[in-house]
Amino acid sequence: MAIISCPECDKPISSRTMLCPYCGFQRGQVSEEQLREFRRRKLRDRIYQLKMASYAALTLLVGAFGWYLAETSGFQYTSSAGPYILFTIGAACYLIIRVYLYRFKAALRKLGNRPL
Ligand SMILES: [Zn+2]
Repeated sequence: MAIISCPECDKPISSRTMLCPYCGFQRGQVSEEQLREFRRRKLRDRIYQLKMASYAALTLLVGAFGWYLAETSGFQYTSSAGPYILFTIGAACYLIIRVYLYRFKAALRKLGNRPL
């Protein structure tokens, strides 16, 4: 008996159990290869979502920079903390997203990222 992670919720479950006690995922007649493919697909979905999120974070950074330029180039004569706050949020989000992207990509490599 081995401990594997549930393809649906990633919680550790026994390789003998056919039903995940956490999320109810039925392993039933699913073969190991199908499970791997299922996990690969999930990882690819997450990587895709993270990439979209990282573009959003980059947009925040660009927006913060534009805001900063607008404030310092004479359109407005006041300088606020706004651009710095926006930049900090964008940079923090981007870094966190990159860490997760790296981890998911490493997990995908471990599963063997074969084209479908
Ligand atoms: Zn589960």
